[in-house]
Amino acid sequence: MITVREIEQALFDLAPKELAMSWDNVGQLLGDPELNVEKVLVSLDITEDVADEAIARGCQLIVAHHPVMNCKWLPVQSVRSDTPQGHLLLKLLRNGVSAICMHTNLDITEGGVNDALAEALELVDPGPLGDPEGLCRMGTLRQPMALPDFARFVCRALGANGVRCAGAGKLVSKVAVGGGACGDCEDAAIQAGCDTFVTADLTYHTFLEAKGKGINLIDAGHFPTEDPVCAKLISYLTEQFPELSVTKSASHREVIQYYVEGD
Ligand SMILES: [Zn+2]
Repeated sequence: MITVREIEQALFDLAPKELAMSWDNVGQLLGDPELNVEKVLVSLDITEDVADEAIARGCQLIVAHHPVMNCKWLPVQSVRSDTPQGHLLLKLLRNGVSAICMHTNLDITEGGVNDALAEALELVDPGPLGDPEGLCRMGTLRQPMALPDFARFVCRALGANGVRCAGAGKLVSKVAVGGGACGDCEDAAIQAGCDTFVTADLTYHTFLEAKGKGINLIDAGHFPTEDPVCAKLISYLTEQFPELSVTKSASHREVIQYYVEGD
């Protein structure tokens, strides 16, 4: 039998704990390390829907990207059923569902979130961008393309409902990528000579300054830019533990919808 502890160790072999940021909370966050696991559900986040899905499918473990509790957001001061977070944590514990979360360590590691994003966007020769934290990647397109064409390609490649973008009047050729909120890495992308940066959670002011800085910016959404890592986690765990049933959550998907005038 395979235990939660063994799966946690295998995931730390992929994404070492030391890579995680100091404010982060990674590893097994809930449940019994010695619990035997037959079925694993993989999801970017552990939402109430994902918890229900894990219980309905008889999964003993959820492997997720974002910590279910106690990192920069979601500090845990109490676990009460009358709060949304307490309700979720109690549901998981009462149903014997353990949780392993691999967050910034998975962003940074080779083969993690940002390599999965670079691969999804078909970047040629992807490599480190050189940002201080080692999060982002850069690479080139097989063929340079106009920003609107690239924006549509990003939607298709990531299954995004839409993207927000601001152009600097440059063709898209050398592209930096940072899954999730990597807006702080914009200067590193400019320094590396990238004409375009694909990330998420960008602000109005960041878009406003893009033209002056000379970089095309695309905000493709937090979920679409990080979700490609789920397939990586599934193939890694299946390879490490062939007897384990590892599936992706069917209930967790992008919640943000885009409405365009004229639709
Ligand atoms: Zn994220």
